[in-house]
Amino acid sequence: MARIGKYQAVKGMGDSFPEESGRWRALENWACSVAGRFGYGEIRTPLVEPTELFVRSIGEETDIVEKEMFTFPGSGNKSFSLRPEGTAGVVRACLEGNVFASNPLARYFYLGPMFRRERPQAGRRRQFHQFGAEALGSRHPALDAELIDLLLLFLEECGLTGWTLAVNSVGCPECRPAYRERLGRYLEEVEEKLCDNCRRRRETNPLRALDCKNPGCRKLAAAGPKPLDSLCPDCSSHLAAVRELLTGLDLPFSLDPLMVRGLDYYTSLVFEVTGPALGAQDAVAGGGRYDNLVGELGGPDLGAAGFSVGLERLLLGLAGKEIPPVPAPAGRLYLAAVGPESFRSQFNLLSRLRRRGFTALTDYGKRSLKAQMREANKLGVDRVVIRGPEELSAGTVKIKDMESGKETTVPENETITSLTRCISS
Ligand SMILES: [Zn+2]
Ligand SMILES: [Zn+2]
Repeated sequence: MARIGKYQAVKGMGDSFPEESGRWRALENWACSVAGRFGYGEIRTPLVEPTELFVRSIGEETDIVEKEMFTFPGSGNKSFSLRPEGTAGVVRACLEGNVFASNPLARYFYLGPMFRRERPQAGRRRQFHQFGAEALGSRHPALDAELIDLLLLFLEECGLTGWTLAVNSVGCPECRPAYRERLGRYLEEVEEKLCDNCRRRRETNPLRALDCKNPGCRKLAAAGPKPLDSLCPDCSSHLAAVRELLTGLDLPFSLDPLMVRGLDYYTSLVFEVTGPALGAQDAVAGGGRYDNLVGELGGPDLGAAGFSVGLERLLLGLAGKEIPPVPAPAGRLYLAAVGPESFRSQFNLLSRLRRRGFTALTDYGKRSLKAQMREANKLGVDRVVIRGPEELSAGTVKIKDMESGKETTVPENETITSLTRCISS
């Protein structure tokens, strides 16, 4: 159709009419439904933040901060930027609102536009949209596995098929300095073959050479030292624990030693999901741990992790497919575990229940059964599923109805059926 009128939308920023906005709304509904089942509540933060926030968190020498932000001056010497990603703003908001005072494990999801001055192409716009989730307050590997489980369930429920998941570890302040030095020495040897960006960042931020898009740099990075070879015991055992949990959840993944993500705040575990309709370099979603970011922005020293999904890219992957409607929410459950063995069984059950539409939570703090029951009470759940050493050896679980206080013991393999029955009756 020929354009009429005097004005056009800004380059890389488009409009959505009902044929398309209905699909957007469907994705947003799925995001709310799936995140809700994992106990993530919605957080809304401003589209504009102090530029310094992004510089400090994403990193001064990254593509995003160096050339992709929409930055403008405020009054005085202030500088503001349109948010290029969601994590920095969420951490800023959690600290400003001191959410940790009342909630040791804060879990939020967000939906909304982000802005980056990139070359517009299929699935990549200057105003693009993300669904993201952030969990702050724990270093437990189950948190990483939970975020990945949430992400994959969301993608599957929207109808995406043929995705692949890759994980890696980028090290921590304990092991990264030695790795940086090794990588720096290697990059010095091959300096004349590097692109201008990588040559410039070689001494100050050599890690960025690993996610440089220049084909020459990619080849060099593939032949050089990897973060995996320099991990400290903590990072190694964290990666091993997450891999074990993912295997337990039947989530297929591969290890990609070259994946580092383009943001400096990542530490330890990182992950990416690619879809079939997108190029191998264009992940549909990605995330990881950022255990130092909260402290770096002036908060307490606590573990945190998150992910984001590029919704334009997801829609590309869903082209020609109907996005199904979300189901009515099932009941609210709390899974209490006593001991590590029981935790693993409960963690797998947790994932299966969420896939059945239940809102289900558990404890990552290794707290006593009494403390977990208190937490369940506070959360106002319908039922608590208890599994301790006794139930574990008998192959049963105990289900407590929180309204009547009645407890019933059921065989392990009938847990889901009996919960479905009692909640819907
Ligand atoms: Zn480490
Ligand atoms: Zn390069």
